[in-house]
Amino acid sequence: MKLESTSEASRTHSEPFQLSRRAQALTSSVIREVLKLTEKPEIISFAGGLPAAQTFPVDALRAACNRVFVATPESALQYGPTEGFQPLRQWVAEKHNVDPARVLITTGSQQALDLLGKVFIDPGSKVLVEAPTYLGALQAFSIFEPDYMEVPTDDNGLQVDQLSASLADGARFLYTIPNFQNPTGRELSLTRRQALVERARALGLLLVEDNPYGELRYSGTPIASLHSMHPEGVVYLGSFSKILAPGLRLGYMLAPASIHAKLVQAKQASDLHTPTFTQRLAWEVLSTGMLDQHVASVCDRYGKHCAAMLDALSRHMPAGVRWSEPRGGMFIWVDLPPCVDAMALLQESVASQVAFVPGAPFYANSPRPNTLRLAFVTVPPAQIETGIARLGHILARHL
Ligand code: PMP
Repeated sequence: MKLESTSEASRTHSEPFQLSRRAQALTSSVIREVLKLTEKPEIISFAGGLPAAQTFPVDALRAACNRVFVATPESALQYGPTEGFQPLRQWVAEKHNVDPARVLITTGSQQALDLLGKVFIDPGSKVLVEAPTYLGALQAFSIFEPDYMEVPTDDNGLQVDQLSASLADGARFLYTIPNFQNPTGRELSLTRRQALVERARALGLLLVEDNPYGELRYSGTPIASLHSMHPEGVVYLGSFSKILAPGLRLGYMLAPASIHAKLVQAKQASDLHTPTFTQRLAWEVLSTGMLDQHVASVCDRYGKHCAAMLDALSRHMPAGVRWSEPRGGMFIWVDLPPCVDAMALLQESVASQVAFVPGAPFYANSPRPNTLRLAFVTVPPAQIETGIARLGHILARHL
């Protein structure tokens, strides 16, 4: 079994047609390679980043779909404005207490990351990211050839005191995931949020706040968003993927006026607008008021999975292994002793029918090979116990 990702660049010598420099630099994601290996049903996979399909509100969406087709079939199938379907923008605006004119509906928050790359990054532009950070953001930004600078993190998220003036000097933005970060599951404390906003203001640094997991909270109380503290200096990314369904491909951005206009132009060039039909479908289902109860039931389910995994880790991991203790989200981050390479461990682990994602690809510059990410939402608690026990057994052999 070979897990190293194949470099597309190395293949281009045999390509019959000349690719762009950007395309030549693209590499296939290690995570996608790992996922291919773990698709076999006999594997207990903590590798995926997907929500549990059992949580999708299928009946509510089916009923809403019928209503859209009965009431407004033509307009649901027509082109629409780039900014998005107005009632859905209004819904988002009310949720965040902002002017609807600041809301841009996107085709998932992944598109928002691509648009930010288009609008802010020139080759060599400095971009600040957490270490580690969301791999999909690195992929989206990297196409525009930034020069990444990593800001260190600890158990309480981004280490704001490390954000020096020289580090921030000339940076186009700082990308951060304050709630239940992917990949670590960590949460940025209120004190650090306040300090980050203060520092960003002083340095004139734009913050990009990505928040697809904020509603998936299993304990503790919600913490104010960076955007709510500093709307003129923060671009906020929201997503319906984890609270409704990712296949809808629906997300949104809240941005200061000047940036919003540029993002709309960039989006128009990308896809004209997010599908009218799915926007109307989402609004139809949201306007029934089902979301609060639905999210509570998702949290109830995921919270039990999270507790089961934390409990299993505490019983099966050998001494010297540390892990995050998330209060929400989908992921637990594991720190292994420095002598263990998670990529090598994965080979053994897959042979024992257990999979995870090695941590190294989540670092922009300085990978830590002794880290890994565990996703807990799709595996039933009984299998979580079996999978973590197997992983503990393999690790014990290494230590
Ligand atoms: N940001 C983060 C931190 C994510 O983990 C993900 C996907 N899991 C996304 C953005 C993209 O989500 P989507 O495009 O489905 O909204």
